[in-house]
Amino acid sequence: MYPFRPFPPTELMDQAEEEDAIRLAPAQELLAWVKDNYLTMGGQLHNPDHDHIAELIHDNEEFLAFAWASSAAMAKKRMVLGQCEKVMFNQGGWKKARQEQQMRDWFGFVPQYLITIDAAFCEQTSDREFCRLIEHELYHIGVERDEDGEIIYSDTTGLPKHYLAGHDVEVFFGEIRQHGIDSSVQRLLDIAKNAPFVSEKNIAACCGNCVIN
Ligand SMILES: [Zn+2]
Repeated sequence: MYPFRPFPPTELMDQAEEEDAIRLAPAQELLAWVKDNYLTMGGQLHNPDHDHIAELIHDNEEFLAFAWASSAAMAKKRMVLGQCEKVMFNQGGWKKARQEQQMRDWFGFVPQYLITIDAAFCEQTSDREFCRLIEHELYHIGVERDEDGEIIYSDTTGLPKHYLAGHDVEVFFGEIRQHGIDSSVQRLLDIAKNAPFVSEKNIAACCGNCVIN
């Protein structure tokens, strides 16, 4: 088990500072920690919503990989602290070969999904925010379900059909101010009335802090 939250390697941060550029590095330790805590029954942060990921990882180690990025990326004028991508190299030829080689050099395989996490953010953020960021990125790996909520399996591979999932709520503050809340925001408000499932004690137990009983 990994009872301590992984921290990004200091060499990565030092080298990025020296080069004045964003550097990336594989984060196998992060995958191991996520597996133990989110994707294993009885794990401190186990969430059955991600069981379809767990199922695939147990069958096929090449499904998911994690990487650290030395600092945040900017997209649409917002800081991006985490990114989940479906690894698909649209181009062919040497460009594809080069990108696939990068994945093999890092992980030993080309993963189907890659989650990249801002190491600078993780160095200084709280355990709760760190756990939340990982949870957020895992939710971007969606699985197709039928009307009854049962997972749809592919006829050809026999595996669940995954896709890159969008956010449940996407809204502008001004839109709500002008037009009021819609059903997705209503659902958000209903959920927010309950205490979070993940307690401070769960977080302390997997992030390595003392637990005060
Ligand atoms: Zn997101």
